[in-house]
Amino acid sequence: MIEEERHVLEGTFLSNVKSFRRILLSIADGVYMTDRDRKIILWNRACENITGFSSKDILGSKCSDNLLNHVDMQGNPLCETDRCPLQQCMITGVPGDKPVFVRAQRRDGSRVIVELSVAPIIQDDGKVIGGIEVFRDATIELEMRETKARFLSAITHDLKAPLTVIKGFLELVLAGDAGGVNKTQADFLSSAREECDRLNKILDDLSDLARFEATEFSFTPQLVDLVPLLQKAHTIFSFEAAPKGLDFKTVLPQPLYVAGDGDRLYQAVANLVSNAIKYTESGFVCLSAKPAGDKAIISVQDSGIGISPEEYEKIFDQFYRIDNSITQKVVGTGIGLSIVEKIVAMHGGEIGVHSQPGCGSTFEISIPLAQLPPDTPPEN
Ligand code: ADP
Repeated sequence: MIEEERHVLEGTFLSNVKSFRRILLSIADGVYMTDRDRKIILWNRACENITGFSSKDILGSKCSDNLLNHVDMQGNPLCETDRCPLQQCMITGVPGDKPVFVRAQRRDGSRVIVELSVAPIIQDDGKVIGGIEVFRDATIELEMRETKARFLSAITHDLKAPLTVIKGFLELVLAGDAGGVNKTQADFLSSAREECDRLNKILDDLSDLARFEATEFSFTPQLVDLVPLLQKAHTIFSFEAAPKGLDFKTVLPQPLYVAGDGDRLYQAVANLVSNAIKYTESGFVCLSAKPAGDKAIISVQDSGIGISPEEYEKIFDQFYRIDNSITQKVVGTGIGLSIVEKIVAMHGGEIGVHSQPGCGSTFEISIPLAQLPPDTPPEN
């Protein structure tokens, strides 16, 4: 394209910006636009309210010019790095796929947590000539989440400690350490011990939720091989599958690397395996993984009670449990799948379910495979 044409196109863009300005000024979310050099060319009133910077302070400056100083939730700088969402979307020409939380600097030096979405501004000829960022103040929302997580973690901890003691004493009495126990007494004590186990499982779910909410935004991807992680889930959950007589198998490939957080990925797989065992009375549970194109596919299949298609979406809602005579007998809180869904989304993946009542269920997670660094050991 000749230089003159470029000026005409960019001139048209800028005059359009002027006519949009009035509309954007009245929007409650912060909206700012940059040109292709990331110089701010539009800054609405909500941006001023959230950050304290007026248009006069900021128009014409580069968004990375020591003003907003975006850092991620762990405090790592984002400006002028390949993790800056706006810079990335302007390089790739692709809008950010989901909103992200960052800390921005206010004019008075304090920090505000904002949830932002970004998109490139693209001309008809496909050229990126600017970027747009929309953000809102999420400080109170995140503070509330932190308070909720702290509260959950404190009460689960405070309830678990005495529960462990109660169960310990019940076991001692049942074992005859406090004198002889007749059959009726032993039955009553065993029921009390089972209720301790039920309560323990509920507290485990709540503490999982607390752990997830407390660390949801401190996500730093590492290279994770899924195979040992799945093997660990198999070893640990064999102890739950064995007493039910379930055939618990694995079909695992060579190393399968994804970029993510190993603890959270384990938490997701463990929730699916635990459900498969809980909701299967006889038959099998199979944990498998394989590469498929640029994705890693983890699947957890069972021969259990199954799920009807109209429940597929609802089961991922927090605290939702299918209400039937079988699930009522199984301890649960309706928290597990909502956490799994969030963990998978954090990894840029998807989760799906195929099932029919009475015919078992298959939960399938797909997560993008990692780009392996050149010094990664070769597959055996
Ligand atoms: P919980 O198991 O604690 O109730 P989840 O969020 O893990 O909570 O699951 C939500 C609901 O989805 C469960 O209550 C159950 O009704 C259904 N569900 C989950 N996994 C399975 C499965 N493998 N087979 C049948 N139903 C399942």
